[in-house]
Amino acid sequence: MSTNGTNVNNDVNGVKLPIYLDNHATTPMDPRVLESMIPYFTGKFGNAASRNHQFGWEAEAAVEKAREQIAKLIGATAKEIIFTSGATESNNLAIKGVAEMYKEKGNHIITAVTEHKAVLDTCKRLEKYGYRVTYLPVGADGLINLEDLKRAIDDKTILVTIMAANNEIGVLQPIDEIGAICKEKGILFHSDAVQALGKVPLDVNKSNISIMSLTGHKLYGPKGVGALYVRRKNPRVQLSAILDGGGHERGMRSGTLNVPGIVGFGKAAEIAMQEMPEESKRLSALRDRLMNKLLSNLDETHVNGTMERHLPGNLNISFVYVEGESLLMGINDIAVSSGSACTSATLEPSYVLKALGLGDDVAHSSIRFGIGRFNTEAEIDYVADRIIDTVKKLRELSPLYEMVKEGIDLSKIEWQTEGH
Ligand SMILES: *Cc1c(COP(=O)(O)O)cnc(C)c1O
Repeated sequence: MSTNGTNVNNDVNGVKLPIYLDNHATTPMDPRVLESMIPYFTGKFGNAASRNHQFGWEAEAAVEKAREQIAKLIGATAKEIIFTSGATESNNLAIKGVAEMYKEKGNHIITAVTEHKAVLDTCKRLEKYGYRVTYLPVGADGLINLEDLKRAIDDKTILVTIMAANNEIGVLQPIDEIGAICKEKGILFHSDAVQALGKVPLDVNKSNISIMSLTGHKLYGPKGVGALYVRRKNPRVQLSAILDGGGHERGMRSGTLNVPGIVGFGKAAEIAMQEMPEESKRLSALRDRLMNKLLSNLDETHVNGTMERHLPGNLNISFVYVEGESLLMGINDIAVSSGSACTSATLEPSYVLKALGLGDDVAHSSIRFGIGRFNTEAEIDYVADRIIDTVKKLRELSPLYEMVKEGIDLSKIEWQTEGH
């Protein structure tokens, strides 16, 4: 198997180091994707909006092909795909575009506390402009409760925005059921489907989705290119544009199209369409292999988010009594993410893990593994051994873990604190 694109500076037991296991942050581009893009940087450099010469027609044809490839992967039609710079822009355009376009109808939006920041911060900004936002909680399994959703809907609700798959804990929200509720109530349903695209089947009609955010770089495509699915009938969805200009993309997103990026995103979608059934089996087998090794060799270790509805390549695990950051330093030849987010100068525990009910310390002890197309079984075995070894070493240094092992109930201890 080819390398995952990182600099190879070591080689242990046939495993090339460092190992990339952070495929929810971004994915390496598939070499087949790169190959499809190259002609559009030089020879076929035209502007897809140039209507009166061959250079423009060639670029436009390439863009239309990509539109079809992406549409096919989600059961849409090509005309329903709007190209953007990525899913951050797609989420902004979807939510702000609906808020502005449907403001006569109502000012209430429903989302969930575990959404990506591009959704949550967009909703927060709209609150400043007089919109009301309901942030649904999630259960310990990471899923919203459909009864909570039904109760939150009122006669001013214009939009429900709930992601298809979570980027930290990999759980799959019940989008079919959410879509059915929204359809019955005549409310638009937007879904950030970035992590689900090409990993699990998506069908905008089956799930009654009105608007869907997508991006190339989580799907072995290039960075800086995204898409927004915008439904054209039953019902036709209209969005106010954020960017004003040349009126590209049916007036919803002005700006010269990133033709090579779009071609690459299309190719990535085509590959995913063909390979998803087999790839998802292979990735979930690797994921289960890693999970079983970790859980059977370490105590006080548990999985976050339900495994019943889960992305094939995702595994989020708490190694209680171990500091996630120390663990990351101990395994510095493996690229993963911890349950801590750097906000300003401090390490904040992940808001997603906290929403599941995890305490700050347990959230900080968590690691997200993102297994992808270019990972091998040998890499997974190497990672499992390194983690088991490092967690055991760190716990030997942990007084709390010692006390738990001696049978002391930590919750009954009165700590002497100096307060801060
Ligand atoms: C990565 C990600 C985004 C942001 O996508 P960009 O294309 O990087 O802007 C949005 N939502 C989810 C769930 C993501 O994982």
